[in-house]
Amino acid sequence: MLLKGYTKKFLRVENNSNIVSLYCFADLHEDIGEVLPFLKEVFDEAVYSDETPFISFKIRGKKIMVYPRKIVIYALKDEEEADKILEWLKREINEAWEKRAEIEPSYEGAPKPKVLEILKLLPKTNCRECGEPTCMVFAAKIAEGAKGPTDCPPLREEKRINLQKYMETFQLEV
Ligand code: SF4
Repeated sequence: MLLKGYTKKFLRVENNSNIVSLYCFADLHEDIGEVLPFLKEVFDEAVYSDETPFISFKIRGKKIMVYPRKIVIYALKDEEEADKILEWLKREINEAWEKRAEIEPSYEGAPKPKVLEILKLLPKTNCRECGEPTCMVFAAKIAEGAKGPTDCPPLREEKRINLQKYMETFQLEV
């Protein structure tokens, strides 16, 4: 089994119409980077990025991004829905890994988040509360999917939402 477990965090975002969306960030206990080109083939319309490896796709109206060490699910109804999607994804990831000899992997690239654009939205104090030596390193980790907007404790809610929205734009082609 490639993916054995994950740890979840949630972020609630209110839009201009006072509608609250729930986002789920799952930190993966194992690195699943190698399965992404195979998983892209499993999900027909998935977009794959090779430089900063991730795939993104929509399932039943939910936007999903899968990175080597993180899964992000957008616009959830509640935490129970996140649990169902995560368990389903875990099965899909492990099945794609087991059947990789029968799947033609796809390495076709797609637009990626820019580290400097992410950095613009961070506090830029290099306070190290996120466990990284600088905000620049943290921004690079967000671009890779190894960190998420909720991992920067001093990041104010408004900037956190803007950062989340910026990352979401990399799904618009799906
Ligand atoms: S916690 Fe936020 S402000 Fe502090 S170093 Fe990390 S990214 Fe920068």
